[in-house]
Amino acid sequence: MTEEIMELANYIDGEFQPSKCEHWIDDFAPASGSLIGKIPCSDHTDVDAAVEAASNALESWSALSIEERADWLDKIADALEGRRENLAELESLDTGKPISIARNVDATRCVSNFRFFAEQARAFESETFEMTDASNRVLYKPLGVVGLITPWNLPLYLLSWKVAPALAMGNTIVAKPSELTPMTASLLAEIIDEVGLPKGVFNLIHGNGKDAGSPLTTHPKVAAISFTGGTATGRIVAAAASSEFKKLSLELGGKNATIIRNDVDIKPIMPNVIRASFLNQGQVCLCGSRILIHEDIYDSFIEEFLEGVTAMQIGDPSDEDTDLGSLISPEHRDKVLSYIDLATQEGGVVLCGGGPPADIPNTFSKGNWVAPTVIDGLSPDSRCATEEIFGPVVTLHPFSNDDEAIDIANSTEYGLAGSIWTKDIDVANSMAERIHSGMIWINCWLHRDLRVPFGGVKNSGVGREGGKWSLNFFSEPMNICVKHD
Ligand code: NAD
Repeated sequence: MTEEIMELANYIDGEFQPSKCEHWIDDFAPASGSLIGKIPCSDHTDVDAAVEAASNALESWSALSIEERADWLDKIADALEGRRENLAELESLDTGKPISIARNVDATRCVSNFRFFAEQARAFESETFEMTDASNRVLYKPLGVVGLITPWNLPLYLLSWKVAPALAMGNTIVAKPSELTPMTASLLAEIIDEVGLPKGVFNLIHGNGKDAGSPLTTHPKVAAISFTGGTATGRIVAAAASSEFKKLSLELGGKNATIIRNDVDIKPIMPNVIRASFLNQGQVCLCGSRILIHEDIYDSFIEEFLEGVTAMQIGDPSDEDTDLGSLISPEHRDKVLSYIDLATQEGGVVLCGGGPPADIPNTFSKGNWVAPTVIDGLSPDSRCATEEIFGPVVTLHPFSNDDEAIDIANSTEYGLAGSIWTKDIDVANSMAERIHSGMIWINCWLHRDLRVPFGGVKNSGVGREGGKWSLNFFSEPMNICVKHD
């Protein structure tokens, strides 16, 4: 794939258009540091135009039947599937993630998100409640214009996870993807344009959080904000949206525990524990960045874990055999490196990694590289073991019994996900129930059924996505009561 510089435009009212303000934001390939694109640095005037277009499209879009809207989702899924390889290449280029992950995780999930919500929409049933003298019918109405704001780690995967249910329930959309990874949101706009979705139903605004995201969160004609991103940004978005009483969904950061009990066979679980630690260079909100290991097997676990981690291939994201790519930006790499420095100040011992990998080819010398890093010896309440690093860094902590493992798992401000590895499923189930988190996997990680609730507690978020929870978020139930004669 050649790295020509792509100039991306906003997509408003069915037209690709430049921003009204004439500033641009550069988009760099994280693996090489090369300039690959420019996006409009949109501001409130672009947001106003997009919201206006979405508002105008609302009446006719919401008048379609849910089955007709489901058919549109399938059309989008078909078109995305036809461009799957293109999508994977763009996502890998724009994020620095390995092509195999971009293909098998990102590109695959974008298609299945649209197909899944088409199916869910067709099966959607509203309730009736009979009284002796009256009947109640619940009507699920669209919210109106919804603002969708998404991060850079799984760009189209997460955007499509919001676009599909929002469209299914009859809303119209203004989407604001991360300024660091704008490419595949633009590809989605192209596809939506090609399939002929009515104009104004889906609008795309490129730009940064302050100039383009913020006006969306306060716009009086935007009924709801669905936001995925960092906890600090989520706090700002929540404050802005709540003053307008917008419906709000927040999917935020995590600091998830991977709990290894002493009854496991270490070898067979190791590939999955390593995947949970380092998938997408540890830049997945669900990654198990703290590994809690029973003291009886602590040393043997570490030996096996380090063998697996150091065997991972890091380098050229376009190489099919690459396991780990680069981090998203120089700023993020520096943040991750600063946490590794902090770990040593906090008494931690770096067992592997700790800086840029040794043998990155010259082409990638300006990229944002950090080798997979394993840190031992930190207190579970140290900053490195409790704050979200969001990179290829895991900390290891011994525990002596299940209660202690649960206490450590619960000892952060986050509560998104986690995993428990054991042969005793009854114990694992009761441990899972005591962990303050939205999701726990037992003997697996990121094993996703799209029907189940997805989201976090504490500072990991508010609300749930997935299956009926997404359809409920993107609709407003109304009760109509008819008194019998
Ligand atoms: P971020 O919070 O910096 O940015 C997310 C989005 O918000 C971007 O589009 C950004 O431009 C926009 N934004 C920034 N300031 C804004 C403002 N004031 N108003 C409106 N929009 C604004 O997050 P990020 O660095 O892109 O993503 C990484 C974070 O996302 C991590 O913390 C990660 O855990 C989290 N995340 C959570 C989930 C989940 O499902 N819980 C999934 C993926 C990522």
